[in-house]
Amino acid sequence: MLFHTEWLKTIFNEYKGAVSPGIPIDEVSTDSRKETHKSLFVPIVGEKFNGHDYFKQAFDQGAIAALWQKDRKLPGFVPTDFPVFFVEDTLKALQQLASAYRDKINPVVIGITGSNGKTTTKDMMASVVGSGYRTHHTKGNLNNHIGLPLTILSMPADTEVLVVEMGMSQAGEIETLSKIAKPDYAVITNIGESHIEYLGSREGIADAKLEINSGLKENGLLVVDGDEPLLNKMHNLDYVITCGFEIDNDVVVNDVELTHNQTTFTLSDQTVYAIPLLGRHHALNAAFALTVADHIGGISKTGAADALMALQHTSMRFELLTGRNGVSVINDAYNASPTSMKAAINVVGQMDGFERKVLVLGDIFELGEASRDFHRSVADSVDASIHVLFTYGKDAKEISSVVSDRKQNIVCSHFGSKEELLQALESYLSKETLILFKASRGMQFEQLVENVINPA
Ligand code: ATP
Ligand code: MG
Repeated sequence: MLFHTEWLKTIFNEYKGAVSPGIPIDEVSTDSRKETHKSLFVPIVGEKFNGHDYFKQAFDQGAIAALWQKDRKLPGFVPTDFPVFFVEDTLKALQQLASAYRDKINPVVIGITGSNGKTTTKDMMASVVGSGYRTHHTKGNLNNHIGLPLTILSMPADTEVLVVEMGMSQAGEIETLSKIAKPDYAVITNIGESHIEYLGSREGIADAKLEINSGLKENGLLVVDGDEPLLNKMHNLDYVITCGFEIDNDVVVNDVELTHNQTTFTLSDQTVYAIPLLGRHHALNAAFALTVADHIGGISKTGAADALMALQHTSMRFELLTGRNGVSVINDAYNASPTSMKAAINVVGQMDGFERKVLVLGDIFELGEASRDFHRSVADSVDASIHVLFTYGKDAKEISSVVSDRKQNIVCSHFGSKEELLQALESYLSKETLILFKASRGMQFEQLVENVINPA
């Protein structure tokens, strides 16, 4: 049980039905299609759909109470004893409910934002902190103004630590999320370029991430990527801890090594940590998790190290697979930003044991007017460690054109169709070759990966 309908009276003062002494609620749901169990249905008014129109469906699927926007008429079928709480705005009410429930359970809250690495850091954090405490965390990527409240409202009553991912695309959004979650620990994984079209500049992006401070608890700690100049300048603030590869950070990530399927590194205590993910940036993400765990206390180093090694890999995020003819394939088709694309290319460059490295890159979306420049900037990380570059997509063409202008010894081609690209890839499918697939989600590069893994 999450709470009793009786408790909802302390938050919403207009109601009808069997509110007192009340009934136990096991779930909060905004999705009328989903089968639920003893749920409180919250009808959200969206751009295309209005949850109030689907109330009957929610009722049939297991809703036993509901929030209801006052400007809508309650349908006639609702039993008189069915508890309904009337609110001005169901979205705001959902957020208000999440905030109150957070305070009622009062776990240690860890909020994670940043342009890249939020989900990875969240999963590492949940795994490390979960080795010592009853921990609840954001499932998948439910990190927005609806997902974050729903994450909070799915936390069992005995939760000791709550780990939440906070995403954004515009200024003001992280402030809203942070004020709901009220983190004891806030993490900013990095500042990239995503959503620059709405935020104007990298400074604008940094300010938007720093909004996480607005809900930070008194005596809370802010843990940031200290190699980012826009964040490193906070170095001397007593509530800020910087983590990074450069030696002036509070927590320094050292001795990073990439082997076939794991990354190892040390922190200042010389313990060697290993993570089953490839990439220097993942060592940094792990350092954020270890730093917060260390401050919370009560987690052994071996427990933390084992928890990192036990991480499950989320599919399509830098997933190393074996394809046809034994070719090694990195599926990073889940998403892309210029920062993460450059990071992925660097990781490919760092990986040993391959005679040939092939990049298959596609468009990165949502970069606004400077999109072509951002794509051109990706070319900077294509160095002599790479043998073949294939691109597909309108702006990804820029990457090929910069690299081919440099007249290096890199085979470079742009393709007008996925079929032609796949045809050209055929001759590279061999045991000695590593191929990276990366693009924004909408480019559907998983189709390419699928083709290279399984013959048509
Ligand atoms: P989203 O905005 O889609 O929720 P996210 O911030 O949750 O993204 P992840 O899903 O963890 O990020 O990782 C996305 C990509 O960012 C991956 O391709 C990964 O290689 C890259 N990445 C992860 N951590 C970092 C980091 N600290 N710095 C730069 N790139 C990173
Ligand atoms: Mg994410």
